[in-house]
Formats: sequence, C-alpha cells, structure tokens
Amino acid sequence: MKTCRISKCKTKHPDNVLMCRPHWYKVPVAIRRRVRDACKKMNRGGDRAAYYQAAADAVQAVEEKELQLLAR
Ligand SMILES: [Zn+2]
Repeated sequence: MKTCRISKCKTKHPDNVLMCRPHWYKVPVAIRRRVRDACKKMNRGGDRAAYYQAAADAVQAVEEKELQLLAR
C-alpha cells in the first residue's frame, strides 16, 4: 500500500494505482485516459517519461481543484 500523493491526503491505496479512489475521480477524464494509456505502454516496455508526465499532470489537476475548494 502507498499513501495518496495529494497534499494532506493520508488515504492508503494499492501500489498499482496512482492515488486514492476519491482523488482519482477528481482527475479530468482526458488526463485519466492519458495516465492509463501511458501506464499500459510503460508496462509493455514503453516510455517511462510519458507516464511520469501524465501522472504529474493528474496530480496537478487535482491539487488545483483542492486549492479552489479551499479558496471558497
Ligand atoms: Zn487522496
């Protein structure tokens, strides 16, 4: 198990997913698809950088949403 990488989130999640389920569903669908596709390619020996970039974009998208909630 890993701890969710979103700030202040202490939820544990399985190693094979990027973040806890509630946060994953806050990632815009287009980015979620990119993460999944890049993950599949990486598992077949493809480009790691593409996966890390997609993962970073997913985290950033959620962090921005969380900040907007705090600002309300
Ligand atoms: Zn989380």
